[in-house]
Amino acid sequence: MDKTNKNHSIRCTVTSCENHNMSENYCALDTVNIGTHEPHPSESKCVDCESFVAKSKCSC
Ligand code: SF4
Repeated sequence: MDKTNKNHSIRCTVTSCENHNMSENYCALDTVNIGTHEPHPSESKCVDCESFVAKSKCSC
């Protein structure tokens, strides 16, 4: 995955995600999957980016 890619259709501030473009607040992926962990989502915190990948804390 090219992390220098800036998908201008997907603004994102989650810098702890492996897919984040670290120079600006964009996702580097071409597409993302959005979903919910709630049976009846009613506000933004009910909705998740399911393409999130936690950055490894290991620098090795
Ligand atoms: S995958 Fe989701 S959380 Fe990760 S940078 Fe892209 S939009 Fe943000």
